[in-house]
Amino acid sequence: MFSDSPVNVVGFNHTETHRKGKTEKSSQYNGLFTEDKSCDTVDVKTVETQTDAFENIDIGKIDLVALNNCLEKGLRLLKTECNGWPEMHSYEEKIQKDINDDKTIKVSLRQHPSFGAKNISALGWNCSGDKLMVATGEHCHTQWCNHLNSVFVYTISDLENNGSTVSNKLEVTSCITCLATHPTNEYLITAGLYNGELLICNTNDNMSMVSLEWHSQPVSESLWFVRSDLRVVLITAGKDGYVCVGTMMSDKIKFIQRICRYLVGIPGKVGIQCFDYSNRHFLVALENGKISSHLCGTTRNIKEDQVLEAVTVKTYNGCSLMIENIQFCHKNSTTFIITQFDCTILLYNVYQKDPQKIIFNQKLITRLCWSLENEFIVYIGEDNGELTKINLINEKTDSIKKFKSCDIIAMKINPKRKNIAIGSLQGEIYICKYE
Ligand SMILES: [Zn+2]
Repeated sequence: MFSDSPVNVVGFNHTETHRKGKTEKSSQYNGLFTEDKSCDTVDVKTVETQTDAFENIDIGKIDLVALNNCLEKGLRLLKTECNGWPEMHSYEEKIQKDINDDKTIKVSLRQHPSFGAKNISALGWNCSGDKLMVATGEHCHTQWCNHLNSVFVYTISDLENNGSTVSNKLEVTSCITCLATHPTNEYLITAGLYNGELLICNTNDNMSMVSLEWHSQPVSESLWFVRSDLRVVLITAGKDGYVCVGTMMSDKIKFIQRICRYLVGIPGKVGIQCFDYSNRHFLVALENGKISSHLCGTTRNIKEDQVLEAVTVKTYNGCSLMIENIQFCHKNSTTFIITQFDCTILLYNVYQKDPQKIIFNQKLITRLCWSLENEFIVYIGEDNGELTKINLINEKTDSIKKFKSCDIIAMKINPKRKNIAIGSLQGEIYICKYE
């Protein structure tokens, strides 16, 4: 069947036929002209390859005088021709600009004895922007999770002085799925766990903590929020399909006992994949790709059994089963964005069912951060380790930085300084300027 195929390689079978409409890409690099022809994959299969044995070269039979003349001719040709060749220094400048500069702080968690062969799962800045928390956890589970994991606390002043000291550490016996920092208290963090537990921890006070059993399955997301009445609320979403909202006294770890739980998914079947919250709405993307917003009535005088009736649900038309990120705009809470596994970014208005805009990205998007200052700028992390800025008005994309050999798995903008923290699956942490 494949006898007329021009090239056989292990894994893929390529032909040189060009698909119409597909453009050929060519580029000039250091004087060498390379051509990258697009080729269609017609089938995926594995074939055995055989390497031809090298023939023995008998050096005694070579006419070394003739070889020497030939090399001298080549050298003369190079000397006369090289004036017209492209110069390298302009290209070098471009490399320096594109690839990591000295201003990027790099810390490897792999050096830390309790990191070992683990993965980074989440990171977060405290509200004053001077501490970075990094959590670990497995990304795939085939059995019950009782893995030992940690939250590592770094001080930015130490990192800026080329240090890599872990100033504090919290150890837990489950994988950490999400991290959140308190909006006004610089010491409080929450860690959502794979076993459904939610920990509130004081990083100032020997890591003392409170455990909340709000979920029966992994916590997908936890967030703190200051409401318009200045009450601080803690909101979580889980793979059990529930969203939980608890009100908190701002400076102490003390909750008002009533916790509102909203069932959005289907317990045991469809959990919550991504979650975000604004002053009025919460926003849910389920594991089956369904997107909905919930206008919640968690006001003081609503009786417990009326809470669910006070929620207005709106659903949205998406076009993928796999949603990677969902986020409200910080500047305008009627706008939200989702990123999908098919490399699309969808921009919605909360009151409209269909996306206002669909932007196609060339690479897989793993993480998304909406600019804190500009409602039309988002930053995305891509699976090839690239940090990219996207303008939502003109859809222009600018590559800011590329971190070699890493999958960006966590990404947070510092709320006080103009930098962004990036965590790779493999345990590298980068802090860089992002403008
Ligand atoms: Zn685990």
